[in-house]
Formats: sequence, structure tokens, C-alpha cells
Amino acid sequence: PVDRSPEIQEARLKLPILAEEQVIMEAINENPIVVICGETGSGKTTQVPQFLYEAGYTSSNGIIGITEPRRVAAVSMSQRVAKEMNLSHRVVSYQIRYEGNVTDETQIKFMTDGVLLKEIQKDFLLSKYKVVIIDEAHERSMYTDILIGLLSRIVPLREKVRMPLKLIVMSATLRVEDFTENNRLFSVTPPVIQVSFLSLGSVPDDTLICPFGAEIFQILFFLWGLSGILVFLTGQAEVHSLCRRLRKAFPFQKNNSAEESVEEIRKFKKSRKRKKTTALPQIDLDNYSVVPVDEGDEDRDAETDDDIAGSDVDLDLGDGDSEEDEKPDSSLPLYVLPLYSLLAPEKQAKVFRPPPPGTRLCVVATNVAETSLTIPGIKYVVDCGKVKKRFYDKITGVSSFRVTWISQASANQRAGRAGRTEPGHCYRLYSSAVFMDFEKFSAPEITNRPVEDLILQMKALNIEKVINFPFPTPPPAEALAAAEELLIALGALKEPPLTGRLKEQQAAKLSCPISPLGRVMATFPVAPRYAKMLALSKQHDCLPYTITIVSAMTVRELFEEFDRPAVSEEETAKLKGKKARLLQIQKIWAGQGALQKLGDLMVMLGAVGACEYAGCTPKFCEENGLRYKAMLEVRRLRGQLTTAVNSACADTGLYVDPKMKPPTEAQATYLRQIVLAGLGDHLARRVQAEELLDEKWKNAYKTALLDDPVFIHPSSVLFKQLPEFVVYQEIVETTKLYMRGVSAVEPE
Ligand code: ADP
Ligand code: MG
Repeated sequence: PVDRSPEIQEARLKLPILAEEQVIMEAINENPIVVICGETGSGKTTQVPQFLYEAGYTSSNGIIGITEPRRVAAVSMSQRVAKEMNLSHRVVSYQIRYEGNVTDETQIKFMTDGVLLKEIQKDFLLSKYKVVIIDEAHERSMYTDILIGLLSRIVPLREKVRMPLKLIVMSATLRVEDFTENNRLFSVTPPVIQVSFLSLGSVPDDTLICPFGAEIFQILFFLWGLSGILVFLTGQAEVHSLCRRLRKAFPFQKNNSAEESVEEIRKFKKSRKRKKTTALPQIDLDNYSVVPVDEGDEDRDAETDDDIAGSDVDLDLGDGDSEEDEKPDSSLPLYVLPLYSLLAPEKQAKVFRPPPPGTRLCVVATNVAETSLTIPGIKYVVDCGKVKKRFYDKITGVSSFRVTWISQASANQRAGRAGRTEPGHCYRLYSSAVFMDFEKFSAPEITNRPVEDLILQMKALNIEKVINFPFPTPPPAEALAAAEELLIALGALKEPPLTGRLKEQQAAKLSCPISPLGRVMATFPVAPRYAKMLALSKQHDCLPYTITIVSAMTVRELFEEFDRPAVSEEETAKLKGKKARLLQIQKIWAGQGALQKLGDLMVMLGAVGACEYAGCTPKFCEENGLRYKAMLEVRRLRGQLTTAVNSACADTGLYVDPKMKPPTEAQATYLRQIVLAGLGDHLARRVQAEELLDEKWKNAYKTALLDDPVFIHPSSVLFKQLPEFVVYQEIVETTKLYMRGVSAVEPE
């Protein structure tokens, strides 16, 4: 029996999925695999686990597992369900890459999809689970796709050993035929249950399509009452910029009383309607300015690029600082909150709390708010129609961030965030003609990113012929071949014998078994290149340094971004000062002599060392241009990798030393060899004077994979030195092809 509070009871009854509880539970009782489709906000994530719990699915040793493609969702949904059920976090828990609160008592466990994939490696039958729910399957994240493929085999195996496992796939859209009409995946088509919002009043009654050039500010002036507003923008920088401007335009004073404000808003709007509104700043969404920055999103975890920090592509929100048009207007108090996945969790949580009395909640978000999170009380949605995404070249792996139009499915998801409890509106800042040109659905992630990490995980599960795996949508053949090639080069797969004809050799290359080294690598929760570095670092007491470098390289955005567009001149000056200071500190972190040759990697090592030495405080991070959240992640990852290394190689006796000394010169030299072993195919040679036929090759580097010149970014400590040979972590294309995470290597 679950003891829910009256308020929770009441809120639950409004959810459409409650009406389907019986249908859903019958389907689950009678079928091993069930698909549930229901619009975002219908109650899938919060309610289905509760249905199962109440139906006794956790009573006889076995737990309910729910996977989410995003960390944000895993954490916040476990908290919400615990609260609804009046149970402790010891019972309704979560596990994400870095942390979790799972206990022996846990009965409902939310986790990222990558976490469950790792568990399959340890226990292929997933014996501790009674039910596995794959949530947000419509997002088609790479790990979600693979989990569905694996579970399609695990479910029948569990049947055989008489420990049946239930699989529930949940999707916010009806596009599930990749799962249901795919006999290689499920030989028996699973039943699909649809949940829909029935009462007419709760459906957004219309979507207003504004021609481009419509304005967020203008729209906000017209919105009545105190209902919440959700604005979708492309990235973190755009979110911050709009938040600052909205706070300035609609300041919120703590002493406003609710009734007064409502009345004032009403009066104000009446007058406003007659007054000029056209002079407000224009948002020209077709006019993007491109600012070169080399930072981006390290997407090496199971998470998707739901938002990308930084401002490499910047949404132009109008005439900059048109102070005149944006006169502070205290009669329309807005409670403006940003929301994106790199935001600190306690700040993210703010959007779920009611805004202060007398204010309107206005959440400015990236597409993290599209399906993963439901913000209560949203009546209006403003959708810019675009998303910032990372694109990879299939063969070279070079990536770039681009702003593109969203799919029709995404646009509808965004519109659907409006008015679940009362009629709502969605304002689209693009025309219906543009909408009709959108793709129907976004492509599954597995079809447009490198897959070496995935292939290594699959090989570790002894899936040799990856090509025969029941993928919901298979990755492109080039990507598979490139992944196998890289894994062979890293020594993670056994090389095929060099006999037979070329064709046979090539076929053999695509079905190599894993090597003992590969098995060790697969136990580390990082991409294969970094796993190789860890596997090699036993000598010369280098492990603590390698662990730290790998952690720093795989956590997103260690350093604050000071290249973002500023709102005022004053702010521009401030950012400039901060940036200059950071560059200075980085020089110190980069050390001297042999240490210096480690380049950007030594800077990362120095930054982590200095930060931990100072106790990793928000103050230290703030003063030294480090992102506090990133530094905490590095700390957690160091702990996790240290544990992984200790269990992979006995008797290392490793621990995380907060007062780690800088490496010796000999160690630094050895570290460079280790880095080279992982990034060997990422070697670049400086172009020689005699090769300088074209101006575009000035200060450029040549790589094996690319015909075009690549460059060291001005923010790198090696920018001025231009060593002859370097290895890089990755190449990101902005205005040029820039190498990130560069260190110098000696020629052979
Ligand atoms: P779905 O998974 O179908 O998108 P959810 O189960 O996530 O739906 O959400 C159902 C309802 O629960 C939402 O409409 C929202 O109002 C409420 N809800 C979810 N999370 C929270 C939260 N953290 N705080 C308050 N309400 C929440
Ligand atoms: Mg959900």
C-alpha cells in the first residue's frame, strides 16, 4: 500500500495515464514486452513505475529499473517518484555515471541508459531486475537503441531460466515501428498502448505561427495572467543572454503583492495594446552570427547533446542593447529562470517550484525541456524552431556544432509543453511553410556519431559479428568499419590473420574478437582511446596522473567561457579581464621544461591539482576561471576510475590524493607516450616552410586523415610555440578546423 498525500492524489488523478492503469497492467501481465506511447506530461515516467510497484512487481526479490537518456531526468524523476509515493531515497533511487543513492533497499531505480549497459556486461541476464523500463525511446539515443536490441535477446533467455523479465518501452511519439515492425528485433510484435489527453480543455487549443522576425519581448507583453512561459532557444549562451535581457526588461521586486500585480498587469496591458509595440527589439532568427570558439560538448557519456555550452553559434536576439526599447517595466514582474543540462542541479530544481507570488514564471531553456522534464504551470511556449547539434564526419570523426531547424516531431513536442491544465498557446517564430519543410523526425543518434565505444562494449559482450546485431536502426557501414579499425589499432580487438583474399580479410576485420587488453579497456567507463591510456599507465607511477588527465579530458567544459556575447560594454570589459587572467593562470599550470610539452593536457592536470589542493571550493573555481560543476565531476570521475583501475589490476593500491604533486620530468615524458598510445591516429605535423604554397597553410598542421589544414586554437598554451609534432584530443570545426587538447610529441 502506498501512502500518498492528498495533493499528490489529486494531481495524479488529472494525469491521462491513470485512466489506463488497468489496460496497461493487464498488457504487462500477459506479455513479456509492451510498448507505451503517450504525449509528454501524460504521466508515463512518474506513474508506470508506481503501477508496477502497487501490482507487486517488487515484492519477491527483484527491482524495477528505468533508464533515461539524460542524467537530469534520472535524478529528478527518482526524486519526484519518491515524493509521490512517500518513500525514501533509499527505496526509490538513482544511478548516473558519477553518482547515485542506490541501497540494498532500493526497489525502483532510475538510471542513465549507459549505466544499464555496463550492468549487462557484469550480468547479462540482469537477474536483479523484475522489470526494465526503457524510457524516452523516441529520442533514439544510441545506448537506448542498443539496450532495446540486447533486451530483445535477454527477455527470451530469462523466460528459459524461468525468471521472466518484463520489458516496457515508453515513447512520447507514436513513431515506434522501428521497434514493433522489426522482426529481427522482436519476433512477436509487442502490444502498443496509447495514452492520450482526453478532456478537450487540456489540449493546447492552438498554435500560433508567427512569421520570422516575431519577437519574444512583444509576445511576453501580450500574455495575460500569471501563467508560466517556456521559451526554447538553441544553447546555453543564448539562454543566458535572453535571461539577462528579460530580467532587465521585466524586473521582479520581492515586495510586489500578488493581487496588485495581477491588476497592474491587466491595466498595463490594456494601455499597452493601444500603445506602440512594434518598436520592441526584433529577433531575426534567420540571421545568425558565428563566433569562433573551440569549446564544446564532451559527449562521451550516455548523455545526448541536449544543449551545448558556449557560443560558437550564437542566436542573434536583436539590436543588442537597445536600452530605449527595453525600459525596465516593473508592472510586469517576470521570474526568469534558465534551464540547460550543464546548469548546477540546485538551479535546475528551481523550475519545479512555484514562482514567488505576484510573478510569472518564465523558463528559458534548451531542448532539455522538450521531453525529459515537465515544468508545472506552463501555459505559453515560445519556440525558436532551432536546435544546436553536434555533427560528426563519419570517417574522420571531425565534429562541428551547427544550428539547424528541428524536426516536425520536435516542434510538436515543444508545442505540447503548453497548457496541460488549461488551454495554452505555442508561439512559433517561423512560418508554417518553414514548418512543412522540416524533417518529420530527427535521425536516430546511432546513425550520426562515431561508434567505437559502443562496438567495444558489444565485443565485450562477445557479440563478434556486430553487423548481425538486431539494431532498431543500424549504424552506417563506414562508421562500423572505422570503429573496428580504430579498435584494432588500439589493440582492443585481435587482428585478423593476413591470409586469404582481400575480401575475406575485410570481412574478417568486421568480426574480430576482443583481446585481453580490450577486456580490460571495456571495464573503464570512458571512450576506448582513454581506456587504452589507463590500461598502459601502470609503470613509472603514472596512473594517478593518467587518471586525472583522462578525467579532465572527458568532462565537459572545465574552463569558464569568456568569449560569450556580453549584454553591455561593462560586461564585455569584465569578460576580457577574466579571460586575460585565465590565460595567465593557465601558463602557470602548464609548468616548465618537459612538463610544458604536455601542453593543454598539463594545463588540465595543473588546474585539477591546484583546485583540489585548495579544497575544490566554488570560490577557488570562480577566481580561477574553472567551472565548479565540472571540477566536481572530475573529482567523482577520478574516484570512479581509480576504483575501476584497482579492480582491473590487483595490487596497485591506488587512491585519489587531493594533494597530488606535479609529475616529475621523467613522468611527464612517459605521460606523453601514454597519451600518444591512445591518440596515435590523431597525430599532426607542422607544415614546413617549403610546403607553404598557399597562405591558408600558414601556421597550419597536416594530419593523416584530412586534406585541409588544421590549427592550434589561440586559447591553447601551445599556440605560440607551434611544436613540430602534436597529438590532439579531437578536431572541432568552427571558423577553421581547430585541434583541441593538444600536446607535443617528439619525432621518431
Ligand atoms: P511523461 O513521462 O509522460 O512525460 P511525467 O510522468 O514525467 O510524464 O509527468 C507527469 C506529470 O507529473 C507532469 O505533468 C508534471 O506536472 C508532474 N511532474 C513531474 N515531475 C515533477 C516535479 N519534479 N515537480 C512537480 N511536478 C512534476
Ligand atoms: Mg517522461
